[in-house]
Amino acid sequence: MMTEIYLDGNATTAVLPAAAAAALHAMAQGFGNPSSTHATGLQAKAMLDGARARARRVVGAGDGRLMFNSGATEGIQTAVLSALCALRARRARGERTGSVLLYGATEHKAVPESLAHWNRLLGLDLELRALPVDGDGRHDLAALRAQVGEAALLCTMAANNETGVISDLDGIAAVLADSGSDAYWLVDCVQALGKLALNLGATRIDYAPFSGHKLYAPKGVGMLYVRAGAPFTPLIAGGGQESGQRSGTENMAGIAALGAVLAALEDGAVFRSHTQLEAMRERLVASLRRALPGVVFNMPMATSLPTTLNFSVPGLASKELLDLFDAARVRVSSGSACSSSKAAPSYVLEAMRLPHWRSGAAIRMSFGPHTDLAMIADACARIERCGEALRASCLVPSELAPSARDGVIQLGVDGACTWLLTDAASRSCVIIDPLAPLAGRLAAYVRCQDYRVAAILHTQAPPDGGAARQALLDELGGHGAAPAGDALGWPAHAAPLALGPQALVRVAAGAGRAYYLLGRAGAGGVAPQDVRFAFTGALAAAELDAARIELDTLLCPGHDEQNLLCSSLRAERGLVAAVDAGANLSAAGLEAFLLSHPNALLIDVREAYEHAAGGAAALGGRAALSVPLSRLGEHVGDWLRGERVPLVFFCRSGNRSGKAVACLHRLGYAAAWHVSGGMALGEAALAPLARAA
Ligand code: PLP
Repeated sequence: MMTEIYLDGNATTAVLPAAAAAALHAMAQGFGNPSSTHATGLQAKAMLDGARARARRVVGAGDGRLMFNSGATEGIQTAVLSALCALRARRARGERTGSVLLYGATEHKAVPESLAHWNRLLGLDLELRALPVDGDGRHDLAALRAQVGEAALLCTMAANNETGVISDLDGIAAVLADSGSDAYWLVDCVQALGKLALNLGATRIDYAPFSGHKLYAPKGVGMLYVRAGAPFTPLIAGGGQESGQRSGTENMAGIAALGAVLAALEDGAVFRSHTQLEAMRERLVASLRRALPGVVFNMPMATSLPTTLNFSVPGLASKELLDLFDAARVRVSSGSACSSSKAAPSYVLEAMRLPHWRSGAAIRMSFGPHTDLAMIADACARIERCGEALRASCLVPSELAPSARDGVIQLGVDGACTWLLTDAASRSCVIIDPLAPLAGRLAAYVRCQDYRVAAILHTQAPPDGGAARQALLDELGGHGAAPAGDALGWPAHAAPLALGPQALVRVAAGAGRAYYLLGRAGAGGVAPQDVRFAFTGALAAAELDAARIELDTLLCPGHDEQNLLCSSLRAERGLVAAVDAGANLSAAGLEAFLLSHPNALLIDVREAYEHAAGGAAALGGRAALSVPLSRLGEHVGDWLRGERVPLVFFCRSGNRSGKAVACLHRLGYAAAWHVSGGMALGEAALAPLARAA
């Protein structure tokens, strides 16, 4: 088993061994309550004071306050509450205050959400307004200059968590100074600690929250700097700990650990220098460029943290790249939420006005300043292996021509589907409803497999006026390009269209639309009982009812927002006996299930490129059948017609296997389960089974 390479340092970091040791000591020996006056308490207090003194030196707190708390989200609440209470008091005294809570458009959600929350709770009714950033992700200083007069509170960040873009804090300070603004200023310093020099006491910054777990301390500990003279209201009242600024017995284990990290920062020998980190990032960049043709970086290298990369690859969704890297046991994160088939683009990249495809397909790769060169070298080798996996799977341009196979492949973008039908014997293929973002990828696949494109078909007049079709033809560059057809791409001579031993038949559906039936070729087309697939485009339920489609033919839709994959008229009409949809297997229950169901088929629904990057279809050392989710339709019909053996699906996280099982249940195949939590949890559960076998 390959070791894990963790490249998601901006999300969280492992705990530094010295920090873990300090936490353990604080729990086992130095467990006293720092408020107690006996020796045990005094020892704990000494540790607390020592950690605070270090923290003050590291952030350059000057004569400001520095309190420990649970993390940056709490620090942000405290800062916002403090500023808004002061504004309310000033208003009550009849003093002038600004009317706008101005925050950078790329702030962590904790900032605008806290502003909205406390603005509402305190009944201030101030306007929340996002301050735009430029194409490089830096605050638009001209916009700030124009709006600063209205600002009551300004919230900006020192460095962005998604892109690593470093803010021009001096530039912002100059605008505040030049305008004579009396706005309070909060600077989220979470991503800056350990990566940028800080001297907060020498600045105009009023509030600066920090988080321990972003720099090798545990989760649940953080700190807040408050400038001397800046208004302050405690968020938590009680026993008066932290000089009454943050009540509640201190998280001594967390503070001890954070103290050890701060000691390492002061020591200077534990963490890499800016120059060393930059050199590491350059090595990653070089490997990414070699592995991923066309990769574009979504942040300017010169003005971003040397520990963060954010990139997009044309034709590859962030979910696919994430799955690929995860298969190679390289942990990265996607810049966007993509739990459904419709990926939500990153608001940070959208605020930078990057093209939609880039903000929807972004990957963040980040590491901490404790990273060593051997790990980076290993990461580079894995990245290049991922590139080879993509080439071997014909997903990026490649000279390779792996063996062609018959296939019905579903490719999706934002809930819309393109279907690719391939025939190995005749080395030909048909593309139904091509989508523009997939043009490069489809062309790469066709070239690499050396297919002849028998037709590029549409189920209705293309909504983009044929742009996607043209983009695909351009990308194909004459390679196996389809003969010109009618308005829906249907070749003039063809009725039906031969695809090896199968044939494709077009059926008119009214209003210039059509659907296509695929099955074993017979005399004059495909006999109704031989039709296996119907590519139905955007046909509505009533139209499907009226269509000449058998009850059990697999319906392959042109839109699949919910990731239902495929269906049948029998399922659509509710003629399938209801199946208990809760039939999931926990990772812990998997071993017992497989022992009590020896005929169960273990099915890996990850894609071919994931196997190429990380090894064969297997779970916990037990071989599995490979049925990529994009090819599920190919197999479903055979399963439905065959003996109902128990099928146990799995994937990386349990998301795709859950969709496969839901699809089978809808179609009436009850004996289908999936491993919830996926390989991430299942590997450990099945490993003992594999060893025993
Ligand atoms: N601010 C930024 C820039 C962050 O990256 C994070 C963490 O994701 C937070 C705030 C919230 O920090 P915490 O997890 O300590 O609440």
